[in-house]
Amino acid sequence: MALQAPRGTRDLLPEETGQWQYVETTMRTLCARYGFQELRTPIFEYTQLFDRGVGSDTDIVEKEMYTFQDRGGRSLSLRPEGTAGVVRAFVEHHLEEAGLPVKLYYLGPMFRYERPQAGRQRQFHQFGVEALGSEDPYLDVEVIDLGWTILQALKIDAIRLEINCIGCHLCRPAYEKTLKTYLQDHRDQLCADCQRRSETNPLRTFDCKRSSCQAVLAEAPRISDALCDACQQHFETLCSGLDMLGIPYQKTATLVRGLDYYTRTVFEFKETLTAEAATVCGGGRYDHLVAEIGGKDQPGVGFGIGMERVMLLLEQASRMPSTREPIDVYVAFASPQQQGMAFDLVSQLRRQGVAAEIDHGRRSLKAQMRAAARKGVRLVLLLGEEEVAEQAVTLRDMETGAQRRIPRTEIVQLLHQQFSSPDAIELQMRGAVHEINGC
Ligand code: ATP
Ligand code: MG
Repeated sequence: MALQAPRGTRDLLPEETGQWQYVETTMRTLCARYGFQELRTPIFEYTQLFDRGVGSDTDIVEKEMYTFQDRGGRSLSLRPEGTAGVVRAFVEHHLEEAGLPVKLYYLGPMFRYERPQAGRQRQFHQFGVEALGSEDPYLDVEVIDLGWTILQALKIDAIRLEINCIGCHLCRPAYEKTLKTYLQDHRDQLCADCQRRSETNPLRTFDCKRSSCQAVLAEAPRISDALCDACQQHFETLCSGLDMLGIPYQKTATLVRGLDYYTRTVFEFKETLTAEAATVCGGGRYDHLVAEIGGKDQPGVGFGIGMERVMLLLEQASRMPSTREPIDVYVAFASPQQQGMAFDLVSQLRRQGVAAEIDHGRRSLKAQMRAAARKGVRLVLLLGEEEVAEQAVTLRDMETGAQRRIPRTEIVQLLHQQFSSPDAIELQMRGAVHEINGC
């Protein structure tokens, strides 16, 4: 039997990678505008990093991590999320020396052993940002604004922003005690996971997706009533910052996040197209994670966007851009005698910045013309016996059918003038920037 890609993974085919590049370029361009720089960390880390950073009794670490021993007997894990690795690199390379806050972004595959379904894979991709080294609530506003602006630039507007403040190490312990008592009083209405969580990490019960547990939690004491003055003040400034920017949001007192490291601000952008209201982007503040991972106590705030969910939303809303890079010129030749000369021509064109293609299938001239038409090529260069004898080429405009014979010495220069442009990458960037500015 032919082999298939592992369960929960997906190949991104050429028709999709162009769309991904477009979305990624939009994200990178906006990050640059907000002063965030890219950081690339390894795909696997020591397991301990996630035990400590994400929290050993979170779903991710408890049940979803791909953990293995390498040949040297070390325990390694494929990264299930991006923040722990970014914080590890921030500490390891003393990035704070460049001045605070340090604003970073990342983009790449993450791995979680989950039941695959629409928008949920075992290898998926996240784009995320982290701003380290400041408690300023306006930094939270900046991070949320960046997420909002990215989704707006991609024209993903069926979206709802929910925010909450989950307190700090001063006010949360007292609240957790109250919540624990409440949960214990309703223990028989909770699922086994929540019964356990109500002992170890009661706040996490809010993250349970079971409706029976949600019903109990709807009546539970609220963290918003238990915040200390500093947390209250922080949250109020954040809200007024969002109001000032005109970013609509909803305060959701039951919103917590699936990872242990969050303090104060948590937020999620949820899609509003389906009843499921899947989270596209989730994030928040983590003021003790840096210390947890072994650095000096430094606050931080960030988010992660699920790339597959972004692509799904673009598709559902028919907003997926078509992004195929065009081929400018197709060089067609009549018989094998002209192949060498035709190949020389195609490579000269490419060296001059013209996107050019040639047949490698010994196809007839007619079939080559069909291939050119299929690729949507505007101009074809024809090389036959006559052209070779005259040291010329025939230039055919595929739209009008007009043909011109042009001396070989002139053709490369002529096409270079017609198509010469900054290289494709820069063009693509400009395309994305144009879109962003237009929104
Ligand atoms: P969920 O509640 O949907 O499981 P989560 O709380 O586990 O999400 P985070 O850890 O906050 O998600 O990850 C950030 C984003 O990454 C999510 O909002 C989602 O868009 C995406 N994401 C998370 N897990 C997966 C997955 N298995 N497949 C695809 N995307 C995912
Ligand atoms: Mg999850």
